[in-house]
Amino acid sequence: MLGAPGAGKGTQAERVARERRVPRISTGEILREAVSQGNELGKAARAVMDAGRLVADEKMIDVIRERLRQPDAAGGYVLDGFPRTVRQAEALDGLVDGAGSLIVVDIEVPEETLVRRLSTRMICGTCGTLARPTDKVCGKCGGALVQRTDDSDDVVRERLQVYARDTQPIVEFYRVRPTFRSVDGDQTAEAVAADIAAALASVTGGRS
Ligand code: AMP
Repeated sequence: MLGAPGAGKGTQAERVARERRVPRISTGEILREAVSQGNELGKAARAVMDAGRLVADEKMIDVIRERLRQPDAAGGYVLDGFPRTVRQAEALDGLVDGAGSLIVVDIEVPEETLVRRLSTRMICGTCGTLARPTDKVCGKCGGALVQRTDDSDDVVRERLQVYARDTQPIVEFYRVRPTFRSVDGDQTAEAVAADIAAALASVTGGRS
């Protein structure tokens, strides 16, 4: 699942994963958990994430290689936040080689919508779940809502620039493939979900 920060990747990836009963693999979540555990990966990633930059490709490729080896990923998965560079996309092709083809869905959203969404989004300070705009506390665990440290105005600006420079090129990398689909993400989450379901059906011929 591709898209700029704030495009709705996480929300949509979660929904597709639930419907297809496969894990959603979010590299951002893996990193945030590593930061909160204070392990080696977290220590290396923290400052980079707080600055809105990208963690080194080799590190991220190791993380994904390891995660895709877990038994729950054997029947498929939804990737959210990986790949983010052409180097990562090439490595992913190597990792899935022979394990079925990737379906790539790009969620397109205009920049002014991204900025508005990111500056107002809240997550649970306890479990990290993304809150709905109307939530006062976490819908999952009741925890207090906080802003992601990398959703502050200056870091958002940096993340959008990094996206345009390093991640947008992978849309072109995938666009030429028959399994690539682009959907309009500037709609309600339900409308985007319906478009994604139609896009997936058009790739798989209705098979799930
Ligand atoms: P996300 O939750 O997907 O917005 O990711 C949060 C932050 O984690 C990003 O701004 C990056 O600093 C880092 N990150 C997540 N995924 C990757 C990746 N595939 N490559 C490099 N950095 C990543």
